[in-house]
Amino acid sequence: MIKINTSNQHLVQPETFNLNAVSTRAADHFNFDRDTAEEEFKTLRKELIQLQYRLYAEDKQKLLIVLQAMDAGGKDGTIRNVFKGVNPQGVRVTSFKAPSKIELAHDYLWRIHKAVPPRGMIGVFNRSHYEDVLVVRVLNLIPEEQWRPRYAQINQFEKLLSDTGTKILKFYLHISKDEQKERLQARLDNPEKNWKFDSGDLVQRRHWNDYMSAFEEALQNCSTPYAPWYIIPADQKWYRNLAIMRVLVDTLRKMDCQLPQVKEDLTNIVID
Ligand code: AMP
Ligand code: MG
Repeated sequence: MIKINTSNQHLVQPETFNLNAVSTRAADHFNFDRDTAEEEFKTLRKELIQLQYRLYAEDKQKLLIVLQAMDAGGKDGTIRNVFKGVNPQGVRVTSFKAPSKIELAHDYLWRIHKAVPPRGMIGVFNRSHYEDVLVVRVLNLIPEEQWRPRYAQINQFEKLLSDTGTKILKFYLHISKDEQKERLQARLDNPEKNWKFDSGDLVQRRHWNDYMSAFEEALQNCSTPYAPWYIIPADQKWYRNLAIMRVLVDTLRKMDCQLPQVKEDLTNIVID
């Protein structure tokens, strides 16, 4: 079994921080090369597949993974790479888009609560309730007196999930503004990627600094012992994948899922 001793490396610390000062690159966090990282990633992915099998079989605990990032930050790529080979029956990915009329007619956690993982499952949120203190705040979709109380509400909601058997991990994929430019440019230049281009992303990009402030405050206010935030340096996809995989496998190891006790004596059973 690989020793994972760096899984808390990117955990949000209680003191205040400036996101612009946090590196988006692996070099400052990691002293191996890319090949070594990819080897470790593949080994851990095999273990993830086994650990997920036990989580599903045990059918008691739940794991929720929240992914947030700026556009082109790598949320889709993370899901594709990290969960490759995991039994799809045990994983449910939910992508949160701009809320529908019906969703807007309810409280903002209504659609979120419906999507949390049931027993035995891994739930992956591609965007989440955090949009309700990010895009909503940056674009002034509602007044501050409505979004400000949400940090405390979100903590209470996540505490409820935690108290009822959900392990929560939240990853902010941290890319630089230059890296975003390159990735958006690739969507324009590569016909295979054209479909991903959304001119709305350019509007969001103009608010980069406001987003960084909004992320800072969300991560600061809502990183708790029961639902921690991790800031993952994400300019290099291979490092991003490994850093997330390490936390995931380490967490599942600690969840220590057990195969269910066999209820009857199987030794003399003959199948005719
Ligand atoms: P994408 O992830 O590229 O498919 O885009 C989804 C879009 O939905 C993004 O522009 C998000 O900002 C937006 N979105 C997601 N959740 C919310 C929300 N609660 N309120 C407003 N916009 C949202
Ligand atoms: Mg998009």
